[in-house]
Amino acid sequence: MTDVLHVCAFEDNYIWLIRGKSPGHVAIVDPGDADPVLAALEKLSLKPAAVLCTHHHGDHVGGVEEILKHYTIPVYGPARERIPALTQRLQQGDRVDLPELGLGFDVLDVPGHTAGHIAYYGAGMLFCGDTLFSAGCGRLFEGTAEQMHASLAKFAALPEATQVYCGHEYTEANLRFALTVEPDNTDARAHREQTRTLRSKHLPTLPSTIGLERRINPFLRSGVMAVRRAAEMHSGDRLSSAIEVFAAVRRWKDSFRG
Ligand code: ZN
Ligand code: FE
Repeated sequence: MTDVLHVCAFEDNYIWLIRGKSPGHVAIVDPGDADPVLAALEKLSLKPAAVLCTHHHGDHVGGVEEILKHYTIPVYGPARERIPALTQRLQQGDRVDLPELGLGFDVLDVPGHTAGHIAYYGAGMLFCGDTLFSAGCGRLFEGTAEQMHASLAKFAALPEATQVYCGHEYTEANLRFALTVEPDNTDARAHREQTRTLRSKHLPTLPSTIGLERRINPFLRSGVMAVRRAAEMHSGDRLSSAIEVFAAVRRWKDSFRG
């Protein structure tokens, strides 16, 4: 039985430790900072088998080199981004096999937040970095709205029960925006209550699921009439495609102060 531990870093980053069949081994996802990871490994007597990186931002890869001073392990990451210490360069269609964990992951190219961003999907789990957040999505730093829309569509097509492990705890703020776009979304309202309860106890709101995100996340709902109407009202434009709706909602969120 696979389980996933979280390590908190910086303000709101999550570094995920994926535990496999032999419970002593873990894969480390997006170690932006080494210290909290090394402390967790020591405290729980865990041995890392690999590092998995989703994209090149410092809050996701900043701890890799320090971890490699303590452990000699492969570092997987996007072929199209410059990440020092990367040993295995991955792109769409590649597969990561982690025999120590008894797990394998398929690699998805998901450009938008960064140009070469990848995600890892396997064993009913998705590690999506800063592409999809619960009730939100990453900012478009290097990619276009069209690319991000296509990347999110790949995620939306995964099974509903897929557990979604994102790179940041942004759910509460994202839901404020989601409910501004869709004030009548009862699933988003219910999830806001659950999120408040969890955050008041300092617990993560993740993992989410693809099924939940399809119901509450405005960035997966650009085909929904209520989202389109809200985006048209806010932008003052007539929006004729789902990509245009997505782009308008993304711009709206960029200037949103909830
Ligand atoms: Zn990022
Ligand atoms: Fe980040």
